[in-house]
Amino acid sequence: MESSSAATVSAGPGPGPSPADLLRRLRARGAADPVTHVERVPARAGVPAPWPSWAQAELRASFTQRGVVAPWQHQAEAANLAYEGEHVVVATGTASGKSLAYQLPALATLLADPRATVLYLAPTKALAADQLRAVAALELEGVRPACYDGDTPRAEREWIRRHSRFVLTNPDMLHHGILPGHAQWSGFLRRLAYVVIDECHTYRGVFGSHVAHVLRRLRRQCARFGATPVFVLASATSGDPATAAGRLTGLPVTAVTEDASPRGGVTFALWEPPLLPPDSSASPSVPAQATGGHDGATDLVQVRRSALRETADLLADTVAEGVRTLAFVRSRKGAEVVAASARRSLDDAVPGLGDRVAAYRGGYLREERRELERALLHGDLLGLASTNALELGVDLVGLDAVLICGYPGTRASLWQQAGRAGRAGQEALAVLVARDDPLDTYLVHHPEAIFGAPVEATVLDPANPYVLAPQLACAAVEAPLTPADLVLFGDGAKEAVDELVAAGALRQRPTGWYWRHRERPEVDLRGEGGAPVAVVESSTGRLLGTVDGGSSHFLLHPGAVYLHQGVSYVVDELDLADGCALVHTEEPDWSTHARDVTDLSVVSVRSYVDAGPVGMFLGEVDVTSQVVSYQRRRIATGEVIDTRPLDLPTRELRTVAVWFTLSPQSLALAGVQSADVPGALHAAEHAAIGLLPLIATCDRWDIGGLSTAVHPDTEAPTVFVYDGHPGGAGFAERAYGTASAWLRATRDAIAECGCETGCPSCVQSPKCGNGNNPLSKPDAIRVLDVVLANLPE
Ligand SMILES: [Zn+2]
Ligand SMILES: [Zn+2]
Repeated sequence: MESSSAATVSAGPGPGPSPADLLRRLRARGAADPVTHVERVPARAGVPAPWPSWAQAELRASFTQRGVVAPWQHQAEAANLAYEGEHVVVATGTASGKSLAYQLPALATLLADPRATVLYLAPTKALAADQLRAVAALELEGVRPACYDGDTPRAEREWIRRHSRFVLTNPDMLHHGILPGHAQWSGFLRRLAYVVIDECHTYRGVFGSHVAHVLRRLRRQCARFGATPVFVLASATSGDPATAAGRLTGLPVTAVTEDASPRGGVTFALWEPPLLPPDSSASPSVPAQATGGHDGATDLVQVRRSALRETADLLADTVAEGVRTLAFVRSRKGAEVVAASARRSLDDAVPGLGDRVAAYRGGYLREERRELERALLHGDLLGLASTNALELGVDLVGLDAVLICGYPGTRASLWQQAGRAGRAGQEALAVLVARDDPLDTYLVHHPEAIFGAPVEATVLDPANPYVLAPQLACAAVEAPLTPADLVLFGDGAKEAVDELVAAGALRQRPTGWYWRHRERPEVDLRGEGGAPVAVVESSTGRLLGTVDGGSSHFLLHPGAVYLHQGVSYVVDELDLADGCALVHTEEPDWSTHARDVTDLSVVSVRSYVDAGPVGMFLGEVDVTSQVVSYQRRRIATGEVIDTRPLDLPTRELRTVAVWFTLSPQSLALAGVQSADVPGALHAAEHAAIGLLPLIATCDRWDIGGLSTAVHPDTEAPTVFVYDGHPGGAGFAERAYGTASAWLRATRDAIAECGCETGCPSCVQSPKCGNGNNPLSKPDAIRVLDVVLANLPE
């Protein structure tokens, strides 16, 4: 969601210290300099463009009244392409005004053709509501914009179907409501001129693959009614947006990526919290990270000061300097810890000063959140700790400093968060504080991977049979499938239809494939890996939410701390037979981290590279895993309190994996003793999983791994990395396609970590089922050197 206004919000107190001065003071606090790199992101002047000649005077006047004097170049370029009938994706930065790019052609068309309609899709209801306000404020005659989602009262629905010409909804509603009810929507769909897909980079992985087919179903219904709408997509800055948008829509899409909106200069610092001395038991913040289970090898390894503490201190310091600062923290609990700790140190310094810092939680009402944003913009509040840029209002830009506690997972998100800093004509500061994590460590030592690299591509895989088959079933209910539909739904559609026929779900007739059942198939776009598990509060019987089956063992095991809407619960019981977890409210000061053990067998090889002693493979695998224990860790410090056993059944997953093998001879030649091979492969596997998000928009929790000195299926030392979703989500495929870049970054991340024997910043993994044992950091580098020396670029 973007503000449609090209004007930049500029408010708040007068100029504080310059970013350079501020940074100098911040980094002078400790003994060692925590800053690994400073990048000056220069200010950019905006490049305005003339209004398109086709934009009516009435439309221009409405925008001008809302403060848009003229479009920026990228807005005009995208709008012109869309108006000419080309599918277009505009992929530019935060607050660059992407809305205008689709509002212009869509609204001009509605004004020119009194019958035309527009469908707008946002990933969340809140974003659709924001956009509704923006369109309604233009007060254009006859447009009648309306939100149509799960909250829309029944009484209004029919009116919207009949009369609204600008319907704002979300993919779930399109899937569950609009497409199954296409007969009632025929008037709207027949006249559909534009489909707008906002924040389209959020449609990734399995969810994105589902949405891709929902859009194909939409196109199929439009085609039946004779409509061929133009698709206009808005994305955060992302790598190769044309390809991703093409995969999502199934259409050729032109990308507009040159951001022509003005921006203030930003001084961007990469910050690595200092390593703590190994024997500093005097320090209260030493997390007792164990390297092994119960074998006595539990010497403390060097660990860094927690990123949360570091961020809290930075927030207190910037606020003390009178600088309006927004701190992004990955978890809600973390955001509250940062705010509370900053408040405490400020109050210690100047009683009452702590009141100028707040936490911004998901549990607040919309009005409360907007009030906090206003207070920060106007300088009544000086510091805010928040979780996620998507939850923030579009107007909250132009801050003096942004602190980012831990790499947010993608460069796209990083820039979205940093983009909240800097107003036109004024310099701002952004600081990325690295967590104890291989990817964070790599990035603060490889600024070129942040500032020089293109943003990662959004990955989705519409050919995933676990997505394709249920989506074809939904399509068949909406209208019998024809051979032409198989082309529309793409690779694998024929095989999926054959399987649905074999399973008795579809019947083939001369006119097509027909759905045989009375009920519609139940397909959840966001769920995967088994039926969802309901989370129920025992004392009240209230349903708090659901967790997809695939994650339930990790998130809802007995003793798990479960966060919902900013409230903390603890799980008493996970009833797998009934598909529910019973919880009670409790706010312990620890978090829980489940661990699993895994077995894997190769089903088939899709593609491979034979590189002498090294083999690189992509294929299908069966993974058997079991969540066996969980760790409790102190939230503020990361200290491990204990590890507790769990008794949960094993589960099977058929998915896609990338794997490499090495000959034992090549390992021996590289100096890896045979006793060290398991630790070498295991360490390489952990780091490789940690670095995969560098090249694909996934989270390390989307991916699993397994390494072994000899695997029965490959008969060689092997490292497997697999998608944690049934059928795969495209991550392993992406890793295979960019294997040398991915493993080069992995190798460098390990080699450049300052620790002696391996730490959470390089080869240790927070989700290891074997308690991070065995691990050999130096041998992992040797393993990767052998792979990289043999693998073609
Ligand atoms: Zn390390
Ligand atoms: Zn492991």
